[in-house]
Amino acid sequence: MGMYWQKDLETMTASQLEAHQFQKLKETVSLAEQSPYYGGLFKKRGLGTANLKSLEDISLFPMTTKEDLRENFPYGFLTMPLNNTIRLHCSSGTTGNPTVIFHNRHDLDSWANLVARSLFAAGARSTDVFQNICGYGLFTGGLGFQYGAECLGALTIPAGAGNSKRQIQLMQNFGTTVVHAIPSYLTRLYTVFEELGIDIARDTKLRLLVIGAEPHTEAQRQRIQDLFGIKAFNSFGLSEMNGPGVAFECEYQTGLHLWEDAFFAEIINPDTLEPVPEGEVGELVMTTLDRQAMPLIRYRTRDLTRFLPGECPCGRTHRRIDRITGRTDDMFIVKGCNIFPMQVEKILMNFPEIGHNYLIVLETIKGVDEMLIKVEVSRDWFAGDMDVLENLRRRVVNEIRDEVLLTPQVKLVEPGALPKQEGKAVRVQDLRKNEGA
Ligand code: ADP
Ligand code: ZN
Repeated sequence: MGMYWQKDLETMTASQLEAHQFQKLKETVSLAEQSPYYGGLFKKRGLGTANLKSLEDISLFPMTTKEDLRENFPYGFLTMPLNNTIRLHCSSGTTGNPTVIFHNRHDLDSWANLVARSLFAAGARSTDVFQNICGYGLFTGGLGFQYGAECLGALTIPAGAGNSKRQIQLMQNFGTTVVHAIPSYLTRLYTVFEELGIDIARDTKLRLLVIGAEPHTEAQRQRIQDLFGIKAFNSFGLSEMNGPGVAFECEYQTGLHLWEDAFFAEIINPDTLEPVPEGEVGELVMTTLDRQAMPLIRYRTRDLTRFLPGECPCGRTHRRIDRITGRTDDMFIVKGCNIFPMQVEKILMNFPEIGHNYLIVLETIKGVDEMLIKVEVSRDWFAGDMDVLENLRRRVVNEIRDEVLLTPQVKLVEPGALPKQEGKAVRVQDLRKNEGA
């Protein structure tokens, strides 16, 4: 096995990869034609495999949006009789009605293999004990990592979400070496380690963390690595593209290798829908290349990222994307300033005095939109004196103002005071009266 899970696929030359993608694309388009949605659309536009003379011809095909998935819910994208499929997943519905994706046996095997490949790239091995701390059920992080880690050959603990004391007990009982969890949960889990007086290096066998499913900054990753004293690898995926196992960091942590044998990726300007110049940030658009029950063509993820230049020392040739800075629909506008939650997080996480949780509240005060940021102060600092806290508050205000060009109101709160979510963290609460908007 050596350094790779699938050396042939992971280290293909650019021309091999292109040929592979082209072949897979033709298969995908001909499969997609079997679905009511694409079948009708292609017929109307006179599109089909005959249009595909080279990989670039994918641009002749229309993009698919989350709205299309919703409008054709539940069976409009299905290419085969329902009884040939064996599982469905729904997206967690962070931003509206859920959508559904169906899988047949091939799709699930292909997905598990991609997750195994991803874990292997991050340094996990069949000898590891993998504890999957996230919701099982419709959320793809549960079963996605379960079958992926099993495919890798690791002993896999389907721990599920929550109940931190039990999580820690499982780690100690079974010698967990690798944990997958969302980043906002890991910082909370750490405080439970502290409360219990358990020293991670001394009392556990943890050696590697996998974090993903929600946006987080490099500063938050660093913080998690410092707290746990081990590396944390970024995992990216979305239900529409199976779930986890779309793009993953390798041991060098130089961005996320996007598995291009299984997905064709484009980065576009969300306003013009044209490709952005190489290396610029835009919306990630993806085509499944190895899915049968429900292939998607040029799906607009709404996630913002860019392709990173250069080669990775690991030797994998699949292009790397930068960490996701947010979704096109995450951005909010206050007093004419366009702001992404991750800009705020980036600043906050650079303050050692600041704890792990924060909440951005947008409200209308006397007819004017304001941004209020509630920030948990770390335990050691909260007991400190008022002047010190006031000074900290001012510095936070200034640094955020410099970043987002708007003066926020900042309120420092006690550790643990902000609401906790069972699943993905909610960073923005918009209470504005959207008159006329
Ligand atoms: P929902 O869209 O309802 O949240 P999903 O579980 O499919 O349901 O979530 C996928 C989305 O989660 C991605 O489109 C992306 O916005 C976000 N996401 C997943 N992994 C990461 C990551 N590593 N970094 C940032 N965002 C991520
Ligand atoms: Zn690499």
